[in-house]
Amino acid sequence: MPEQFGDRLDLIRGRMEAAAMAASRDPASVTLTAVSKTQPPAAIDEALDRGLRVFGENRVQEAQTRWTDRRADLPDLELRLIGPLQSNKAGDAVALFDVIETLDRPKLIGALAAASDSLGRSPRLLVQVNTGEEPQKAGVAPRDVDSLIAEARAAGLMVEGLMVIPPADEEPILHFALLARLAARNGLGVLSMGMSGDFEAAIRLGATHVRIGSALFGERNPGLVPSRG
Ligand SMILES: *Cc1c(COP(=O)(O)O)cnc(C)c1O
Repeated sequence: MPEQFGDRLDLIRGRMEAAAMAASRDPASVTLTAVSKTQPPAAIDEALDRGLRVFGENRVQEAQTRWTDRRADLPDLELRLIGPLQSNKAGDAVALFDVIETLDRPKLIGALAAASDSLGRSPRLLVQVNTGEEPQKAGVAPRDVDSLIAEARAAGLMVEGLMVIPPADEEPILHFALLARLAARNGLGVLSMGMSGDFEAAIRLGATHVRIGSALFGERNPGLVPSRG
């Protein structure tokens, strides 16, 4: 892996573009979400200096600390919550994030709708799907996706897509393909799938947002973060 942030970024952008072209897709249709969780301020500043504006965070409180002040000077910043959301944090999440990628249960619909009403702010939403039906993992089971989306829409929420973290020990392609099918069936255009190890495959299967952390920033301190979801 290149030592300089800028070189790592160029490399990832090149690989994203090549994967899009190989799939006859417009490279501009795929957004790089820089996963900045646990990164020190200097790394964030470097990413901002390089023009990155779309960031993924997996914890509400950590994201507040990191972004509340910075965001005042960054009108085009887009913050995306990619980690599990507890309903008692829904208000904080609605106040900070532009996109919440982890809607995965009916209880959260009520909490997000109430927070949106009281704050006058409505983040766009993705529904996280547990395509591997792993008991320990967040996400709605594939069979319950359609009804959760319908319920969220009925509550006035803006669902624009789906998100997945495939099982760590399985071929991700089948999970990406399933996510794309579930999205198409529900008329959803946004697909958040693909991480450092599998983003090219995700782009081939239709990803509009790839979430890249370690390939961009370098390895995280493993003591601080649960690895996949
Ligand atoms: C940490 C994280 C990522 C980034 O993972 P890398 O393998 O470091 O690219 C992507 N998505 C989610 C939900 C994460 O928590």
